[in-house]
Amino acid sequence: MPGTRYQLEVNPEIPARLARLDELANNLWYSWDRPTRSLFARLSAGLWRATHHSPKAFLKRMDQKRINEAADDPVFLGTMNRVLSAYDSYHSEPRLELPGKPPLQSTDLIAYFCAEFGFHESLPIYSGGLGILAGDHCKGASDLRLPFIAVGLLYRQGYFHQTIDRDGNQTAHYGDNDFDDMPIEPMRNQDGSDVRVGVDFPGRTVWAKVWRARIGINSLYLLDTDLGENSEADRGIAHQLYGGDRRTRIEQEIVLGVGGVRALNALGLNPTVWHINEGHAAFLVLERIRNLVGQNMSFAAALEAAAANTVFTTHTPVPAGHDHFADDMVMHYFGEFCKATGLDRDGLLNMGRVGGNGGEFNMTALALRGSRFHNGVSRIHGEVSSRICGDLWPQVAAAENPMDYVTNAVHVPTFLATDWYETFDRHLGLGWQHRLTDQSCWNGVQRIPDQIFWSIRQSLKAQLLHLVHSRVRQQHLRNQGSEAHLDRVLRSADPTNPTVLTIGFARRFATYKRAALLFNNLDWLREILSDAQHPVLFIFAGKAHPADEPGRRLIRQIAELSQQREFEGRILLVEGYDLHLARRMVAGVDVWLNNPIYPLEASGTSGMKAAINGAINLSVLDGWWGEGYDGKNGWAIKPAAEGLDPAQRDIDEARTLYELLQDSVIPMYYRNTSLGYSPEWVAMAKQSIASIMPRFNMQRMLTDYAEKFYSPAAEQWRRYSSADFSGARRVADWKARIRAAWPRIGLRRIDQMAARIRYGETLRFEIAVQLDGLTPDDLTVELVFTRPGEPTSARARRYELHHERPLERGEHLFSRELTPDQCGKMEYRVRVFPTHELLTHPFEMGMMLWL
Ligand SMILES: *Cc1c(COP(=O)(O)O)cnc(C)c1O
Repeated sequence: MPGTRYQLEVNPEIPARLARLDELANNLWYSWDRPTRSLFARLSAGLWRATHHSPKAFLKRMDQKRINEAADDPVFLGTMNRVLSAYDSYHSEPRLELPGKPPLQSTDLIAYFCAEFGFHESLPIYSGGLGILAGDHCKGASDLRLPFIAVGLLYRQGYFHQTIDRDGNQTAHYGDNDFDDMPIEPMRNQDGSDVRVGVDFPGRTVWAKVWRARIGINSLYLLDTDLGENSEADRGIAHQLYGGDRRTRIEQEIVLGVGGVRALNALGLNPTVWHINEGHAAFLVLERIRNLVGQNMSFAAALEAAAANTVFTTHTPVPAGHDHFADDMVMHYFGEFCKATGLDRDGLLNMGRVGGNGGEFNMTALALRGSRFHNGVSRIHGEVSSRICGDLWPQVAAAENPMDYVTNAVHVPTFLATDWYETFDRHLGLGWQHRLTDQSCWNGVQRIPDQIFWSIRQSLKAQLLHLVHSRVRQQHLRNQGSEAHLDRVLRSADPTNPTVLTIGFARRFATYKRAALLFNNLDWLREILSDAQHPVLFIFAGKAHPADEPGRRLIRQIAELSQQREFEGRILLVEGYDLHLARRMVAGVDVWLNNPIYPLEASGTSGMKAAINGAINLSVLDGWWGEGYDGKNGWAIKPAAEGLDPAQRDIDEARTLYELLQDSVIPMYYRNTSLGYSPEWVAMAKQSIASIMPRFNMQRMLTDYAEKFYSPAAEQWRRYSSADFSGARRVADWKARIRAAWPRIGLRRIDQMAARIRYGETLRFEIAVQLDGLTPDDLTVELVFTRPGEPTSARARRYELHHERPLERGEHLFSRELTPDQCGKMEYRVRVFPTHELLTHPFEMGMMLWL
């Protein structure tokens, strides 16, 4: 076609009465307030879909006539006013006492850094679980009125849209985000110019523009490098989420970490707590150190200060998953940093070393060294992380090292279907939204009549099947399938008769999630799926990273099987997994299937979303399900013993899966259905809500973070930074002294050892400690009692010995009298470790000597 196509967009004039729609469109509050989204959809359902549920894009393209009509429509105005009054009361609710012990102060500010944020499909800067969790974290922080801000990158291309062709090939479609269509606004200086920050790169400055997204009462600041003053290459740094090569990745992480700190500085914000959510943002530690060194501190003191109020959350259960860069690449970008801070090459590279061996600069190691609060994201993952990060505290057993955990959770208003609200109001009592962590409130789910409970479940399933219908239809016709054949494919997914047991599996197609475990034994699966009396429908959805060939192969495999005659209509593969489909799937399926390889699912959150909606989990006991499963609220696949040959492990676990389906899940769903539903099923679904809702919601998670980390970190910051950082300086000097002396510290027992005593007798312990110039206050000497064979853990009984007097040649006597209060065999050991009142964790130096 000849000629140039010029672009033109005509925007409607929003009538004054509807002016506040713009405010609603510019606060991601709409991402968890469904009445707000419905309000937009009501104006024009077609345009709402066409603009991918983006209120801002929607308002710009509204038909003028339609919007004028709405301004004169009392019903619309009434609905809008209800939405606005909910919005206003949310934003003006007084701040309750802040969580934490002692409570956080209103002068505190938590800055949360992450490489991706998933709030809603209208702000596509997320790829999967990490981003959704970060989005939920911000939403929950607003609900709890935490003094909180977040920092991320503004990607021109977020994660891709997915289509799947006839043969199961995934195509990744990248479209440029139009920032004007997104719920963000540029930050402005007083003179009206854009806020920009410069980040030093070798031989040049890369500029980033700072945008803000409003998340309820809080803000997320996003850095955008796509600016005219940057070179073509630098404009592309934040082009694609997890795109490009290693160089792109380190440059993104520098913009996020270093640029993020500068952005907050430029905005006049002074966080008292810094949270690094996954290693990508760990460079913020170096930038903070650089600033502190600029205030006349040594590198060591600056590190102590910066680490004292930094929280680091790791989400990766395998060392290979930790982000790392070649040494030379790190030196290339941080050579100037070394000059500015007086650090040499080894000094810098050691910040990113694991286990003393050279080679790579590990971002997890940097984050751990640069933080004094560290956690994994479930109990199991906490233990795994204690082990894989244990090198940081070489003399401390994993069970006692500073790696803690906070189990992930989900933001309930985002993922709980609106269909539940009225029923919860009636049976749990008004205000249940404010009692999310109250178990007694959720026991009230038992009071919902089975019939009503079931009809809500059916209606949620119908909504899902409706969406599946339209997506599969689109997919099928685009792939040149026939209409007649489509009927066959969709025969079990009938929104008007949602009676078929529907099992969902949706997540990233990473290989450890084993999307194809269900297909491990096709004969067995065929047997299960060929029972016409008890039909089962499996719905699969998810994206594979475009560079992940094994992940893409999984999609092909499922596509292929879903087209085999015996599986057709029983297994559906739905393309385009995103938050919209996720919300519908977790709420609509009967069973949520998750079968990762233990212990690789750090937490997982989709099963929680399913559970709070009354779907029942059928999952490997890994991640959160290791804590969530109570024997009555779902089904558990016990992982095979670790170390088993992977193929055999898959066979064993698939067998458990088939047996559970055949012996429990399917019979229970179809048993005693004379009332139109299975009472046993409803009982389990209710138990799923009642047991999981109070423990896996964001309010619980943020309260944990506040109590375990945010409040103590803010407190440490006050102690370290007051009086010109005298605390940080003191700790740094003390640590240097301890490190120098430690190799010569020694323990020697000098009491009369007794191996058997009578109950009530008192023992006297005497230990000579070689202090090598340290003072007795620098060390703690203690006895650790355990039952025979039991490993030392946080549960062991500990008794501190007291300094009595100096002995000869630098030795000092430590002693204690003890009257054991239990009979039986016991074991005890003697140990010494460095102690200082300013330490954040008693074993943070990783030094411990056993007699
Ligand atoms: C919740 C969610 C995830 C995380 O799923 P898991 O498999 O539990 O880690 C990923 N993507 C989307 C869109 C989600 O909503």
